[in-house]
Amino acid sequence: MPVIPGSFAYHRPATVSEAVGLLAQLGEDARALAGGHSLVPMMKLRLATPAHLVDLAGVASLKGIQADGNDIVIGAMTTQHELVGSELLRTKIPILAETSLVIADPQVRYMGTLGGNVANGDPGNDMPAVMLCLGASYQVTGRGGERRIPAREFYQGAYVTALKPGEILTAVRIPVPPAGHGSAYEKLKRKIGDYATAAAAVVLTMNGGKVASCSIGLTNVADTPLWAEEAARILTGSGLDPATVKRAVAAAEAITSPATDNRGPAHYRTKMAGVMLARALARAKERARG
Ligand SMILES: Cc1cc2nc3c(=O)[nH]c(=O)nc-3n(C[C@H](O)[C@H](O)[C@H](O)COP(=O)(O)OP(=O)(O)OC[C@H]3O[C@@H](n4cnc5c(N)ncnc54)[C@H](O)[C@@H]3O)c2cc1C
Repeated sequence: MPVIPGSFAYHRPATVSEAVGLLAQLGEDARALAGGHSLVPMMKLRLATPAHLVDLAGVASLKGIQADGNDIVIGAMTTQHELVGSELLRTKIPILAETSLVIADPQVRYMGTLGGNVANGDPGNDMPAVMLCLGASYQVTGRGGERRIPAREFYQGAYVTALKPGEILTAVRIPVPPAGHGSAYEKLKRKIGDYATAAAAVVLTMNGGKVASCSIGLTNVADTPLWAEEAARILTGSGLDPATVKRAVAAAEAITSPATDNRGPAHYRTKMAGVMLARALARAKERARG
């Protein structure tokens, strides 16, 4: 099995418009390069053989984490490590640091970017389900200008997304969940550094001991990340009593369609999605005020 990528030309634009221009000019033989921690392994296995890499590392405007009204806007080239260290995210959207910390290992997180994680389209990536859960949207720029795509409409199949050829994702825009919300990301993996056998993201608010709002995302139990809308609807208004949680878990399991692979048979992975969801709900409730 080859472990050396095929040859390619390397481009290092300094601005978004230069990057978009290069991608348009070079056409389908070109790929954007972010942290390289999904793309380069694919190239080493010759599962991807781009003739041109357009490295986004020199585009300073793609970095950074900023508040913008009630949203937080995170530049696509912000690393997973930087998400862990951000004080703004720790206080406003703590599920992002919690999720980053279960991605791979520190070496990967130093290089791997949020934009690469969500644009990649691999159902095993952890951030996409969290973005569905949070109601995030993706800012993208192409030759035709800028547009915003809701994360819940972005994922179309394994490695198939709403990004058009030549477009790059510039930022992830996340509405800040209400103060006092509780959240949790629970991930079952075979060992440190592994992708999820199944994982669940929960963001909820409580009022007088009842769930006032709830959103749920599931990782790696279908070709795309899943937003478990019906499960969340069942939980809303409840006190998260065992019978209601059981019904919600069943509703979430019903929308999964995982592959049988070396992480286990499909049925097992569906059940583990349910277990992760029940754990995430309990932890999110513990953390919520109200
Ligand atoms: C050992 C190992 C373990 C890992 N474990 C996990 C894990 O448990 N969970 C997890 O979520 N991930 C895991 N990863 C993947 C890691 O998080 C990657 O860093 C991430 O998936 C991709 O981010 P990147 O910045 O490295 O993107 P790259 O690898 O550079 O790019 C990935 C893809 O996205 C495209 N792309 C990147 N940025 C943009 C952009 N701004 N606009 C448009 N397209 C873009 C590229 O063209 C490419 O197709 C693991 C990786 C390794 C090597």
